Amino acid sequence: MASAGVLSRYRVFLDLPAHTQVVTLLEGDTPLIPVPRLGAELGGCDLYVKFEGLNPTGSFKDRGMTAAISEAYGRGAKAVICASTGNTAASAAAYAARCGLRAIVLIPEGKVATGKLAGAVAYGAEVIQIQGSFDDALSLVVAISEKHPIALVNSLNPYRLEGQKSAAFEICDSLGRAPAWLCLPVGNAGNITAYWMGFRQYHQHLGTGLPRLLGVQATGAAPLVLGYPVEHPETVATAIRIGRPARGEQALQAAEESNGRILAVEDEAILSMQHRLAQEGIWVEPASAAGLAGLESALHAREIEVRGQQVVAVCTGHGLKDPDSITRRMPAPRLLPAELAPLEEAIIQP
Ligand SMILES: *Cc1c(COP(=O)(O)O)cnc(C)c1O
Repeated sequence: MASAGVLSRYRVFLDLPAHTQVVTLLEGDTPLIPVPRLGAELGGCDLYVKFEGLNPTGSFKDRGMTAAISEAYGRGAKAVICASTGNTAASAAAYAARCGLRAIVLIPEGKVATGKLAGAVAYGAEVIQIQGSFDDALSLVVAISEKHPIALVNSLNPYRLEGQKSAAFEICDSLGRAPAWLCLPVGNAGNITAYWMGFRQYHQHLGTGLPRLLGVQATGAAPLVLGYPVEHPETVATAIRIGRPARGEQALQAAEESNGRILAVEDEAILSMQHRLAQEGIWVEPASAAGLAGLESALHAREIEVRGQQVVAVCTGHGLKDPDSITRRMPAPRLLPAELAPLEEAIIQP
């Protein structure tokens, strides 16, 4: 089915109030890209990338944001607010702009990737930096939305999860059933929670089966692996730089119910997987490579076996969101005079 946005396409499966008025940028319907070469290297599995970076603002956040903003708009809200590591901010800003709402976004000081901050500004959000972490910003927006008529659009908002379920539906629609494993990064843990809700619901209605969930955190921001909050989370994967996940309990439950697991990987493993995905022609931001880095780590430790099985890796955001993650590790490109001889010398092997 051609995309009309996730709310129209999957409305019967989404628990949204009657007053909801659809605000859409035709999000969703993202490609499920086969990556056989990488799959062969990763335990010989039948591997696919769900490339969520191809949503309208460059991340999966648009799936939940269309739902949260449509509900807020339909009930007459005039302003929305969120805390964000970047992608939620850009998405909230775009959907709020689409229907003329005021968008206020709080971001942790100096820790938001260039492409995300630029997006929020371009779409016209009021951006405020907080001298603190994402978790501090989240506490603030919760408090202010309880006190003033400003709609909270973080994934504590239940409609965000309703919209995000649509990615699970799309994967089942593409493959004809759920994959054996779903690997994805875990930050505030809304996405893994929504996927599990979506897969269970589809299975109940259509018998599509259930995947095992592999949720992956960065070792410097791994509260769900450690079992306690992390006061000062640190990782190159800024989208999952979260120490106190709002949906942490549900994420642990989803991993357990699915007979899956949540583990942590080093930043180096994340960056190396980002590079390998780029070699397949898929450029993602660092956090988006965490799912597959986790798969590799679990395979290496012989904790799981995936030979011949369908595995879907959710690549949550586009590489263009965080170009610095590439350029700061690379020397400036070679500079030559505008003449044939030096060019030949540089690129033609004798
Ligand atoms: C938000 C985000 C995540 C983490 O999702 P949660 O729902 O917070 O667990 C991962 N990757 C990217 C690119 C994101 O924007």
